[in-house]
Amino acid sequence: MNGLPGKERRWIDSVVREEEIDRYLRNGRDFVDEELIWNELEANREPSDSRLREIIAKSLELSRLEPSETAALLNCRSEEIWQEIFSAGLRIKQKVYGRRIVFFAPLYISNYCVNNCAYCGFRRENTAVTRKKLSDEEIRAEVRALTARGHKRLIMVYGEHPSSGADFIAHTLEVVYGTKHGGDEIRRANINAAPLCIDDLRRLSGVGIGTFQVFQETYHPGTYRRVHPAGTLKANMRWRLYALHRAMDAGVDDVGIGALFGLFDYRFEVMSLLLHTIDLEERFGGVGPHTISFPRLEPAVNTPFVENPDHLVSDGDFKKLVAVIRLSVPYTGLILTAREPERVRRDVIPVGITQLDAGSNIGVGCYATGEKKGEKEQFQLSDNRSLEEVIGDLVDQGMITSFCTAGYRCGRTGHYFMDVAKSGKVHTLCMPNAILTFAEYLDDYASEGTRHRGWKLIEEELSMLPGEELRNRVTELLERVRNGERDLYL
Ligand code: SAM
Ligand code: SF4
Repeated sequence: MNGLPGKERRWIDSVVREEEIDRYLRNGRDFVDEELIWNELEANREPSDSRLREIIAKSLELSRLEPSETAALLNCRSEEIWQEIFSAGLRIKQKVYGRRIVFFAPLYISNYCVNNCAYCGFRRENTAVTRKKLSDEEIRAEVRALTARGHKRLIMVYGEHPSSGADFIAHTLEVVYGTKHGGDEIRRANINAAPLCIDDLRRLSGVGIGTFQVFQETYHPGTYRRVHPAGTLKANMRWRLYALHRAMDAGVDDVGIGALFGLFDYRFEVMSLLLHTIDLEERFGGVGPHTISFPRLEPAVNTPFVENPDHLVSDGDFKKLVAVIRLSVPYTGLILTAREPERVRRDVIPVGITQLDAGSNIGVGCYATGEKKGEKEQFQLSDNRSLEEVIGDLVDQGMITSFCTAGYRCGRTGHYFMDVAKSGKVHTLCMPNAILTFAEYLDDYASEGTRHRGWKLIEEELSMLPGEELRNRVTELLERVRNGERDLYL
């Protein structure tokens, strides 16, 4: 890329380690096999109703689907069966996760970036964006603003730049975990950043990173090349493709994959997310990604590319693709962000979403200042309701909000998480912990109305917990929460 200072160019040239790509290839080939994907989609072009129902039944048994089965679901043309797929999504989610939704807040730390991704407001050549990297004091101010509203989990977001490499990320994690005010604190910080090498990932693992997320954006090589200009660091598709393999090898147990919908045919991307999951499972003892994200392209300041995307995904297709992902990978968490408008979130949550953000502000440094400024944002959010409003809405739909982070702090990640999920302990472990964190939220941060409705929902959930002994134990802990004790978990 022209016009880069020599120091930055040298840094860019030093990042990729070919041996940390090659070790993951199978006979020199990637896990995303374009030909295989198109062949599967073609071979399963007209699935019969009975075949589709067999596949739905397999998902309901909580078995991960094979590519041919996911291809068949993607090709479903019967509205009646789509309704069956949607309700199966909800049942699978209830079986694995219960009636709870985990909440997090995105925290943008730096928007300096050496890349030029066509769709992103932070791309290097976008001069309409004000660049900012938070200082330690600014990070503390952001954390205080978020925890004062009840947040306990973050996803920290960074551009790709020598000033925000692994050392900086590790340092900012420590600043976040060190910012405490009474019971207000961040208990789990996840990271969304550029692909890193194994040594750097080990360092992050050492400071207590939650989930490490890297979205592939598109798994289609031709499209990937088109939107990530040659000569940029991100143009190296394979370095990104194996970012999470490296993370797993570095001991980061929880990884999150994702695709940016709107760049290419959504069916191709869903098939690729499945192939990515299968490859991780095969290499890491059955443990696939902890979460899958499916952002859709949103408008961004001075970014003409997103005004007319080639493969715009309609709201109807979006709901279908989320449901197909839910059925394909029953144990994986699914994240739906505030990029989506309230109406779409209401419609899509019930097909199997497990994590949401709310009250989000993606301007760098804008939680503390309260600004909502396009020139500090990567793209624009559509659901601008507060955390309190979204939680109240979920209460009305019978869903418990969870701020539980016990899984991570007790080492219940990776294998352990899968064991918990697969053995159904979610209902005896995660659901009680969700109830306890929800009770904390209601007493510490909620409005009178939400508190009242929330406690009623807790009573209902409590009565549905399996076994009298467990119910008594949770009742006793709830009493301690009411009396002011915090951070209690099973
Ligand atoms: N720079 C890192 C990277 O590219 O992986 C970190 C994160 S980037 C700030 C987070 C994600 O935002 C990207 O991976 C991309 O999927 C998404 N994103 C970028 N531009 C977007 C847009 N216009 N609308 C919606 N999502 C977008
Ligand atoms: Fe930079 Fe990430 Fe935006 Fe690309 S998506 S321009 S790498 S911040």
